[in-house]
Amino acid sequence: MKILVLNAGSSSQKSCLYNLSDSSSLPDRPPHPLWEATIDWTVSPDYGVMVVKANGEKCETYLESDRKTEAIAKMLQTLVTGETQVIDQLGEIDIAGHRVVHGGVRYSQATLITPEVKAAIAELIPLAPSHNPAHLRGIEAVESLLPDCPQVAVFDTAFHSQMPEKAALYPIPYSWFEQGVRRYGFHGTSHHYCAVRAAELMGKPLEDLKLITCHLGNGASLAAIANGISIDTTMGFTPLEGLMMGTRSGSIDPAIVLYLMREYQLDVDEIDRLLNKESGLKGISGKSADLRAIFQGIEQGEARSQLAFDVYIHRLRRSLGSMLGSLGGLDTLVFTAGVGENSALVRQKACEGWEFLGLKLDDGKNEESPVDVDIATADSTVRIYVIHTEEDWAIARQCWHLLVMYYT
Ligand code: ADP
Repeated sequence: MKILVLNAGSSSQKSCLYNLSDSSSLPDRPPHPLWEATIDWTVSPDYGVMVVKANGEKCETYLESDRKTEAIAKMLQTLVTGETQVIDQLGEIDIAGHRVVHGGVRYSQATLITPEVKAAIAELIPLAPSHNPAHLRGIEAVESLLPDCPQVAVFDTAFHSQMPEKAALYPIPYSWFEQGVRRYGFHGTSHHYCAVRAAELMGKPLEDLKLITCHLGNGASLAAIANGISIDTTMGFTPLEGLMMGTRSGSIDPAIVLYLMREYQLDVDEIDRLLNKESGLKGISGKSADLRAIFQGIEQGEARSQLAFDVYIHRLRRSLGSMLGSLGGLDTLVFTAGVGENSALVRQKACEGWEFLGLKLDDGKNEESPVDVDIATADSTVRIYVIHTEEDWAIARQCWHLLVMYYT
């Protein structure tokens, strides 16, 4: 069985193809994709760079930015042509799964894409203006190239859909909640995958554990998980709430927005850009959204890089405390994504000072580039895991389940 996964971000398009030799069951561990492609739209306003890896080859192509749907079609053509060809025709693909950032309140699980689902994704564009249009482009590109291929939407919001109302509501007039202004949460596929994987590594049922999963990438969020359900998370109505991120502010006093509008006549689009693209690590350091560059700045004695890191850690620890408050206990702390998987210093700073709870990090294990490993000391009452997130594989797995359910 061949499963295509499309993972469209606000400024990138990632994709991969899995080939399951035995279609009747899923492998225990994620298989290596047969083909992987990424289009990075951040390199220039005029063009993007597509990198395709397959057959031990790596091919780079430049694509025009104003033709993004066509770019996806070009990306998919590399499956059947040139050095990265891995299949004879696109018709060999059995199913395509899309990561969709916003599913609103309607979608609490992976869903076969119908015209109604597409319309719902389009209706939700105001809630995810930089993501949902990119997902629709991917869906339409597959539709035109593979008209008979079933497509599945896997929503980032789905895992948080059972969050209790006390965590989902904002303390604003209730009528707004009735109109959809509520906390949705994001990164759900990653939080769920990591929680399931941690439970598996611990040899315990997920339902018996209280976990905090820390997805720390360019975007970052925490989830508090009890009985296998996300009961709280740091992102909210949009992925702007919560932790300080690469370029996003995370939570700020909403009155700051009013102040900027009233006193400086900033308009909505400008404030949107400032808070989403010019804040976070980049905003404070004035240097970069990438933590590796911030570390270099700190080594070179740059005070603003140090300040950016200090605020990042302070906000991470504060949010960890709030997730702890929601859970009322903790069995397992999980770190994942670019920062969570690679920065021993962030993990160390995040864990510091919680020893009174019985949480003890093993500094040696923490430094050893752990992957799917417990890095707590033997006597720690809280286990601490670094888990390599596998969002694409988690999407592929959901496609497999739907295909088996509907078509066999
Ligand atoms: P995305 O949210 O775009 O999927 P990733 O999960 O890939 O992002 O995380 C990307 C971020 O991970 C980079 O911007 C960088 O800040 C961080 N990162 C990657 N490697 C390291 C490292 N060795 N040390 C610190 N941060 C790292």
